[in-house]
Amino acid sequence: MHLSKFPRLHFAHLPTALEPMPRLSEALGGPNLWIKRDDCTGLSSGGNKTRKLEFLMADAQLKKADVIITQGATQSNHARQTTAIAAKMGLECHILLEDRTGYEDDAYVLNGNVLFNQLHGATIAKRAANTDMNAEMEVIAQKLRDDGRNPYIIPGGGSNEIGALGYVNAAVELITQANDRSLQIDHLVHATGSSGTQAGLVLGMEGMNSGIPVYGVGVRAPKQKQEEMVFSLAQRTADFMGMDPDVVKRERVVANSDYVGDGYGLPTEAMVEAVKLMAQYEGILLDPVYSGKGFSGLVDLIRKGHFKKGENVVFLHTGGSVSLCGYPDVFNLPGYI
Ligand SMILES: *Cc1c(COP(=O)(O)O)cnc(C)c1O
Repeated sequence: MHLSKFPRLHFAHLPTALEPMPRLSEALGGPNLWIKRDDCTGLSSGGNKTRKLEFLMADAQLKKADVIITQGATQSNHARQTTAIAAKMGLECHILLEDRTGYEDDAYVLNGNVLFNQLHGATIAKRAANTDMNAEMEVIAQKLRDDGRNPYIIPGGGSNEIGALGYVNAAVELITQANDRSLQIDHLVHATGSSGTQAGLVLGMEGMNSGIPVYGVGVRAPKQKQEEMVFSLAQRTADFMGMDPDVVKRERVVANSDYVGDGYGLPTEAMVEAVKLMAQYEGILLDPVYSGKGFSGLVDLIRKGHFKKGENVVFLHTGGSVSLCGYPDVFNLPGYI
């Protein structure tokens, strides 16, 4: 796992903390819960995309890009982290936002990540649900090329074999932290979407022969599709790294899409409970779209006895709390008393 071979910029605050969650562990009465704080990677309130962008932006720099294009849902954390890093690098940035929820209230379309994108100086444009976002990015890129510019397109979620390197490296980082404190990790759980996080983690964990199972809680695609996406990207990333793609066995890619609810970005009751649990037992903010649903899956699995008492379960906090400001009404809070 010699990642120094690959071009990388360094702007993330690493290693991110690995902390026990004693109050939540006791309240749920199951395994020992730990949290890996990838919500605290630094720029613009952080999140999991920052690790991927260290490799992607290094590639953009090598290719002498002068403008960055990427896409995501309206409250995309990936878009926000990209705009922050582009700002830091002095690069122009164009963001395409797909309306996947149909929400039209000001909080959702203007606050949270959308506000931050604009504060970082990026231009944003909206597209309808189910638009071919890759084709739309290419249209913008071609216009820029015609004007003599050199655009660099980052896929949604930064999920390709370059971005996934960030999570191969995160696996190395987590294992090192566990080794240094003699912590035996039994399970690693996190929210999975565009698949780069899980693909990198699985490849890293398998490539190091760690024996640690990675469990993705899906936020959009059905189980089969999600697992195929992760598996395919893990294999492509292995190949890109010069490793044998067979290092990742298909059965080591596990996603559970039972916690998506009505669809991507649409709240569930279990998500609301999970966000409140984490906020009120550990003082940590999750988000409605990814980490809240991911943690709701972990809570449900604990309640169903999926884990043994005494096991150590690490929840990878992938960030996203900025988007709470896009969903002020779903938490049914009492207001002033
Ligand atoms: C993007 C994102 C994820 C999912 O990561 P992928 O690599 O896209 O699967 C999880 N949590 C948050 C907060 C995210 O923004």
